[in-house]
Amino acid sequence: MTNRDGNLTSLWQDKARDFTSTLLPTERHYDVAIAGGGITGITTALLLQQSGKSCIVFESRNLCFGTTGGTTAHLNTFLDTPYPKLIKNFGKDAARTVARATREAIILVTELTSTLNIDCGFRETNGYIIAQTEEEVEELQSIHDACLDLGVDVAFISSLPTQIPARRILMLRNQAAINPIEYVHGLAQAFERAGGVVMQNCHVEDVDPGDKVRIETSQGTFYARSLVYATHIPPGINLLHLRCVPYRSYALAIRLKSNDYPEGLLYDMKDPYHYYRTQEIDGINYLIVGGEDHKTGSKSETDSSFRSLEDHVREHFDVKEITHYWSSQFFESVDGLPYIGTLPGHTDNILVATGYGGNGITHSQIAALTLRARLMTGEERYEGIFKPGRIKPVAGLPKFVQHNAGVAKQLLRKMVGLDELNGLDRLRPGEGAIVRLHDEKIAVCRDNDGMLHAVHPTCTHMGCTVVWNSAEQTWDCPCHGARYSMEGKVVNGPADKDLEQIILGEPVKGS
Ligand SMILES: Cc1cc2nc3c(=O)[nH]c(=O)nc-3n(C[C@H](O)[C@H](O)[C@H](O)COP(=O)(O)OP(=O)(O)OC[C@H]3O[C@@H](n4cnc5c(N)ncnc54)[C@H](O)[C@@H]3O)c2cc1C
Repeated sequence: MTNRDGNLTSLWQDKARDFTSTLLPTERHYDVAIAGGGITGITTALLLQQSGKSCIVFESRNLCFGTTGGTTAHLNTFLDTPYPKLIKNFGKDAARTVARATREAIILVTELTSTLNIDCGFRETNGYIIAQTEEEVEELQSIHDACLDLGVDVAFISSLPTQIPARRILMLRNQAAINPIEYVHGLAQAFERAGGVVMQNCHVEDVDPGDKVRIETSQGTFYARSLVYATHIPPGINLLHLRCVPYRSYALAIRLKSNDYPEGLLYDMKDPYHYYRTQEIDGINYLIVGGEDHKTGSKSETDSSFRSLEDHVREHFDVKEITHYWSSQFFESVDGLPYIGTLPGHTDNILVATGYGGNGITHSQIAALTLRARLMTGEERYEGIFKPGRIKPVAGLPKFVQHNAGVAKQLLRKMVGLDELNGLDRLRPGEGAIVRLHDEKIAVCRDNDGMLHAVHPTCTHMGCTVVWNSAEQTWDCPCHGARYSMEGKVVNGPADKDLEQIILGEPVKGS
């Protein structure tokens, strides 16, 4: 089994073996250094290495430790931000470019799995969007019209390959699905065969830009002409943190009583929507269902999200056993498109790919193609539409401001409520809370062995107060999505520094 940034085990990590690097760095100087060993980092590294650049990947933990190990891995030519909205926000030409980019992303995965012979359960299949109310039927019609306008291959059909009730169904041809960890491991092996270096357990700690970027890592100093942050969200404090909202999403892997596993990728139109697909691993079929998304830190009792998802699944499917429960994080950009290109406020050789929303498997491939073009020829592939410095034609910022205001209110409520917690003995195993102890706010949780752990609850990124995530047993920051273990260790950026530990039993400052 491989590791991931949470307490729960995803289907993929359960079935995957760790990736072992075979090449040690003999060099300290590279053309391109990539921070982050998820699907973005490894695909980008491979494409660049194959094109003649010398590349090194630094991964803090192990490959797929981040969201790639906790995704559901649908590859789509349509996005969470539907085409009518993209046309409205960016115009028809830009929306057509986005549609072309999504198609090229799927073609890239098809080609890489086939030419490199990667055994990752890749299959091309249809997608189905399911309208269940009159309002949804109307919305689906506008999605259909926009898709046709942009050249996305869709058609209304009359029945679904499953028993989910539907008033109208839009079929999207040529979508795809993969086992994400096996895909990334296959790419990483090809990257090494091409001479690239993967350093796991190697955290990028500091970067000094210049013609030669100086990169301080937990395993020493390296230099590169360019650096790509493929860390899902860039570390440090950046304009992009004000343009990306962190969300949690939940997934289940299920064995059905019958062998009636639905073919294709399915989506209802609720808000948040549910998504379904089947994956065969070692000869066994699993139905994978996802949904119940919410803003990170807006909820502490995250186990209830699993209960809702489970109730939903049992309504539609003949469940024999739920084998895996897991959740993970994504970052939604304010205008619905990812940010791929120069990191705002930095020189042209410091690059980033972030703000993927729930489409990061597709967007990561678009990012790899875009970054290869930038670094090989200086070309702005896709007419520069994904550039982080784009001037947004839409009112995305008010939504973001609302998000932050909501977070602040919710935190205030939490503090008032928690004042009522008289004794830590009330905390059961797996629970956590922000408590006041001798006028000091502290974040306390009890692990499954009954041990209490305490940390200062102020996120080291920008000073927000963290919130307990009961399902994944982490402290999550509602502002920009940094996450910490029970002991306060960073498990997700953008924070770079751990939460300060408090040794319980000793007097807390102010007592
Ligand atoms: C539940 C869920 C389901 C999803 N389903 C889909 C789907 O069906 N289809 C789809 O298209 N998208 C989906 N997504 C989104 C998609 O999975 C992600 O956008 C994508 O996996 C992000 O990949 P990444 O490589 O950019 O980031 P990650 O996979 O998070 O990788 C970043 C890596 O960087 C490392 N790192 C961080 N900081 C440093 C540092 N300083 N130095 C070195 N390494 C560092 C981390 O350890 C991590 O391994 C889903 C997301 C969620 C939460």
